[in-house]
Amino acid sequence: MSFDINAIRKDFPVLQRQVYNRPLVYLDNGATTQKPLPVINCVNDYHVLKNSSIHRGIHFLSEQATEDYENARKTVQQFIHAAHPHEIIFTPGTTASINGVAFSFGEKYVNEGDEIIVTEMEHHANIVPWQMLCERKKALLRVIPFSDSGLLRTEELDSLITPRTRLIAVIHVSNTLGTLNPVEEIIRKAHAFNIPVLVDGAQSIQHIPIDVQKMDCDFFVFSGHKVYGPTGTGVLYGKEKWLEELPPFQGGGDMVDIVTFAKTTYNVLPFKFEAGTPNYIGAIALAEALRYVSSLGLDSIADHEHQLLEYGSEKLNKLGFITLYGTARPKSSIISFLVNGVHPYDAGMVMDKMGIAVRTGTHCAQPVMQHYGIGGTIRASLALYNTAGEIDAFIEAVKKVKTMFG
Ligand code: PMP
Repeated sequence: MSFDINAIRKDFPVLQRQVYNRPLVYLDNGATTQKPLPVINCVNDYHVLKNSSIHRGIHFLSEQATEDYENARKTVQQFIHAAHPHEIIFTPGTTASINGVAFSFGEKYVNEGDEIIVTEMEHHANIVPWQMLCERKKALLRVIPFSDSGLLRTEELDSLITPRTRLIAVIHVSNTLGTLNPVEEIIRKAHAFNIPVLVDGAQSIQHIPIDVQKMDCDFFVFSGHKVYGPTGTGVLYGKEKWLEELPPFQGGGDMVDIVTFAKTTYNVLPFKFEAGTPNYIGAIALAEALRYVSSLGLDSIADHEHQLLEYGSEKLNKLGFITLYGTARPKSSIISFLVNGVHPYDAGMVMDKMGIAVRTGTHCAQPVMQHYGIGGTIRASLALYNTAGEIDAFIEAVKKVKTMFG
């Protein structure tokens, strides 16, 4: 299928909107992506005609919802090339997935004096749950640093890995710098010492084809709302071996086999990790989003976004009054920068009034800001529906910021 940007944009009703009497230029896709009609219609149809709780009913609607939900699991499995559908656990999002692993893995495998490794460019969602675990267990958090251009210094791993290292958690694509990290290399090094690796795919799932078997990660997590699906949906992929071994992180209905006051036994995978009524409509609509992305082709999406990334970065650089953060390659879809001498919040306010939606601040990655000694950046983040014309409008807005404050 050809990548027809005009046709694609018609699938996203919100992109036809105006804000402050100007066409909306939505460049806050790193925070959340807009939804195409198949996803919107799926959620709507479910509420209008199909709603029924899954797994517990024997009536028509419940059986249909159960089948759609389990098919959604298979769609996710195929999308990330997992070996089995039961390796896919539906969660409310990346944050919930990481907290779940940190709790379960921590309960079983982490003891006083053990170590967890993360990177200096993690989102808070891949720092704080590990820190909480370390506090609970009196374990230690170690950090892989990055260079000023935004490259992870993976050579440091050789000294960071010790006999006490229990797990490495790493961001795939940085939500602040855009760097595409060499997770395969990290996983190879870690596995040489039998250390499992969790990959935070919140910023890669929507841009890069994912094959968890080739990558050989032990856990891969992402959020539905960043890949054109509904909010409150997400995935925890875990290798079967780990999911069998780990204890559940939440107790309740559906995740049990036999419950007595003396003892409870747990359900089989994947249900062991899905306590309570899940967001089944969300999961079914997430599968719709993944089908939409697949119909366009992730390679075509990546090509399109890459062209925009290079076009926008070059235009910004040429202005001569910009500092870019995250210049290392390979990178994906994120342009983080400052207009020299201008507070990012002021810049964001002016751009907003021109219809340009960007994000300003620390992007939930304060250690990245601490690395550069800055309070925050302006972040333009791209999606499959953005255009070169939108980049031009964005550049005009940056120029306006400079004339107003510079
Ligand atoms: N990790 C990364 C890299 C992210 O970009 C985000 C969202 N900004 C998260 C984790 C957290 O995702 P969510 O808020 O959807 O749980």
